[in-house]
Amino acid sequence: MIPRFKPYLGTEELFVALRRQEHAVEHFEEAFAHTFETRYAIAFRYARSGLWAFFKALGIEGAEVIMPAYTCVVVAHAIVLSGNVPRFVDVTLYAYNMELDQVAAAINGRTRAIIATHLFGYPLNVDRLAEIVHAAEARWGHRIWIIQDCAQAFGARWRGRLVCSAGDAAIFSLHISKLMTSMFGGMVTTSDPGLAKEVRAFRDEVFVQPDLLKRFRRFLYLPKVYLRYNEQVYGLVDWLKEETRLLDRLTKQYHLGTQIRFPPDYLDQMIELEARIGLAQLRKYPEIVRRQRDNARHYDQHLVDTPELTLPPLVEGATYSFYAVRVADRQALLQASRHQGVHLGQFSYYCVPSTPAYAQYTIAQEFPHAQLCGSSVVTLPVYAHLTERQRARVVELLLWTCSEGPK
Ligand SMILES: *Cc1c(COP(=O)(O)O)cnc(C)c1O
Repeated sequence: MIPRFKPYLGTEELFVALRRQEHAVEHFEEAFAHTFETRYAIAFRYARSGLWAFFKALGIEGAEVIMPAYTCVVVAHAIVLSGNVPRFVDVTLYAYNMELDQVAAAINGRTRAIIATHLFGYPLNVDRLAEIVHAAEARWGHRIWIIQDCAQAFGARWRGRLVCSAGDAAIFSLHISKLMTSMFGGMVTTSDPGLAKEVRAFRDEVFVQPDLLKRFRRFLYLPKVYLRYNEQVYGLVDWLKEETRLLDRLTKQYHLGTQIRFPPDYLDQMIELEARIGLAQLRKYPEIVRRQRDNARHYDQHLVDTPELTLPPLVEGATYSFYAVRVADRQALLQASRHQGVHLGQFSYYCVPSTPAYAQYTIAQEFPHAQLCGSSVVTLPVYAHLTERQRARVVELLLWTCSEGPK
């Protein structure tokens, strides 16, 4: 079965996993900052931990933080769990990022930060956002932090400039579903030395080094990932998941839409092993982006005449973490493709403020675009390991289901 994503792991990562290297986390942070043209990078267990730490370190509390209504729910969790309130803004149906006019309208005297997400790797207009924020700062007389959510936007550029270095800070996720990975992991980057110092000091004080047993478990996670994303094993696991309930406990942990909480290990530090894998991935990063873009271009060319699918825009500087299309009947397409051995994704099957946990944070607002995305977006596999044959199969399958498949 063709998985919906697959980390680009090879023998290098296995090799480095077995080799000791002093100060790997520091090396990874430095190399990461260098690659993404910023001065500092601070490693965490998850991107959400880094975002939470950012607010805590700066003492931002009881404030409103603006974020998109269609994104990963854990961003909202980080806002609430740090003692703040999310203020949701609808997204555009063009590139699925925040509607900037609505951002301008949502800023008020309590706004202290804006999470600018670059979803699926499409760059948000960071110049316009900066203008809006500067005007608002002048009006309200206090600082409003811009945090770029680059969890899906490694290397994305707006007018030639990396979006991650356009604001005060950026967060990156290194989860296995992202463009590059350190198994689990996240980074906060910034070019502001004062900010870097505070976030790092907070992390070193509050976050803990996992004990030997935990580190061993995390080591074992690596072979599991290699196995899990093997196409044969993937098909079997998918079958077990869909047809039986045996794996529920393992697979339902990542997105818990009903409760605002973090996983129990969110205060763990990144371990050396993960940093070594991250370093190996960083070396492959240009190749990963090139391959993902190439796969996206292939879909652009071959699916353009399919009126049943709304294709994503052709945006210069996008890095295609996912290739997101919209369809009228998502469930039918997901089902049909699964039967044909292709696992399509849906990224996020909700509009965050429409989930029960976040209903209390919306004041008579509506999010028609985010809602539409939550029910109609399908992501096609663009991962760097995808072969030309697999890619052709995905296209064939989509053309078939759209023309004569189950209606
Ligand atoms: C994955 C993701 C996150 C969260 O990353 P974690 O490392 O899982 O905390 C945040 N924002 C977006 C847009 C994501 O896709």
